[in-house]
Amino acid sequence: MLGLMQSQPLSISSLIEFADRHHGDGEIVSRRVEGDIHRYQWSDVARRSRQVANALDGLALQFSDRVATLAWNGYRHLELYFGVSGSGRVLHTINPRLHPDQIAWIANHAEDQVLCFDLTFLPLVQAVHARCPTIKHYIALCDADKLPADSGVPHLTSYEAWIGGQSTSYEWPSFDENSASSMCYTSGTTGNPKAALYSHRSTVLHAYAAALPDVMCLSARDAVLPVVPMFHVNAWGIPYSAALTGCKLVFPGPAMDGKSIYELIEAEKVTYAAGVPTVWQMLLGHMKPAGLRFSTLKRTVIGGSACPPAMIDSFREEYGVEVLHAWGMTEMSPLGTLCTLKNKDLAKSPEEQMKLRLKQGRAIFGVDMKIVGEDGAELPWDGKTPGDLYVKGPWVVREYFKGEGGDPLVGGWFPTGDVAVIDSGGYMQITDRSKDVIKSGGEWISSIDIENIAVAHPAVAMAACIGMKHPKWDERPIVAVVKKPGAEVTREELIRFYEGKTAKWQVPDDVVFVDAIPLGATGKMLKTRLRDMLRDYKLPTA
Ligand code: ADP
Repeated sequence: MLGLMQSQPLSISSLIEFADRHHGDGEIVSRRVEGDIHRYQWSDVARRSRQVANALDGLALQFSDRVATLAWNGYRHLELYFGVSGSGRVLHTINPRLHPDQIAWIANHAEDQVLCFDLTFLPLVQAVHARCPTIKHYIALCDADKLPADSGVPHLTSYEAWIGGQSTSYEWPSFDENSASSMCYTSGTTGNPKAALYSHRSTVLHAYAAALPDVMCLSARDAVLPVVPMFHVNAWGIPYSAALTGCKLVFPGPAMDGKSIYELIEAEKVTYAAGVPTVWQMLLGHMKPAGLRFSTLKRTVIGGSACPPAMIDSFREEYGVEVLHAWGMTEMSPLGTLCTLKNKDLAKSPEEQMKLRLKQGRAIFGVDMKIVGEDGAELPWDGKTPGDLYVKGPWVVREYFKGEGGDPLVGGWFPTGDVAVIDSGGYMQITDRSKDVIKSGGEWISSIDIENIAVAHPAVAMAACIGMKHPKWDERPIVAVVKKPGAEVTREELIRFYEGKTAKWQVPDDVVFVDAIPLGATGKMLKTRLRDMLRDYKLPTA
């Protein structure tokens, strides 16, 4: 016997229609590429998304055709999120920080037909368009009078001219909820980029889950600043969850420096912000010397790479902002776990609570996880046995776009490439990426632990730990360190700083001072590049 409830496919168009009908007056504020602040409401997003859909129909785009973006976080990008996917096409957000060769490769692989870009990225488009034969239409996200003459880019139209004449009514099509809605290529830190192809169903389920109190806890009472880019796994799904909850959205546009972010948070009374640790480092770096305070910010989600304890401490103790440590990946839409404490954990000492907050957190319903050993057998949740982390669920990839890389699953589970421990309370902690783990004398050393201790030193701005070949121990850790401007610390001082903070055999054998640690396109440390930089390095202990 089947249930007798209405059957409605989960669709991205239903999110924007809901936003229009039920919180159409909710505000969307964007700092524009043009430099000014733009404000409008959810009802305007809905109206203009319908114009986008009509404009795409006008280009005779077929169902599932790909529409790419090279754009910052802003209202026009938001309209594309709903107009492209809602009308049955696939939104392909490209990371503009990638090398032009990679961008051309990705656009060709995705067979993009349209490319919508912020004018900031015109030089990039000029560099790649000749190598992107599938792209038939270029749309610059600007007013008609801002369209550059003689750009050399073929079939170039301004976004406002493109959608301006279109009808503001549109009948969103109904189709299978498993249809593709958007795609995102992995940042390629582990090889050739592969695309995760999200569906309407996976996106809507993820949007519900992300808004839950023990996840991102988003509501109509929040003003949310996604600093995490809309080209980085759909800004962690925030645009969709925002349409569902009716929170105010505040977009930073291209101004990602500490000063601009701080000013936006204060001016727009932001209560909630989300981003990777490097962004928050810039924000705190701007605030501390000037003695600035937050007047409205309550919570911040930090993820994408391990959040240093010093940062969690600083936000909580100095600024009264709760840090929610999150873990996920492109292949997981991206949310997997979030660290919110259970009631019984709140009775623990502040030190014990802090230990928990450092972990990547508990699974969200919709993601199951397990850790396995080299033989594939599941390992215990004892908080100390590390294993390869596997996940499964309705917003986890089953296969990459075009079957790239073959079947990624093992017995129905997706191997994340991360190494983790899980404790008896279900809190998961990433200790490494499997390729970064350091094996010393048959034991594993967590590079994240070593980095966290280094960045807790007042003179250290950034630290990356890598393993170096050692004749006796197989590998030994060293730590590459970037000093804070004007700060001084010696190798010996830093090595002494590890005393009492970790087991003796885990203390790095050496400290190498560098001007900068290479970062990837999503702001993560590129250890492959760092290893190249230190190719001729010799361990003093070897
Ligand atoms: P890529 O895998 O290409 O770097 P992703 O953005 O999908 O691109 O990155 C996912 C990876 O980032 C995870 O597998 C994990 O290694 C790392 N990561 C994400 N969040 C965290 C976190 N909170 N702590 C530690 N590592 C994290």
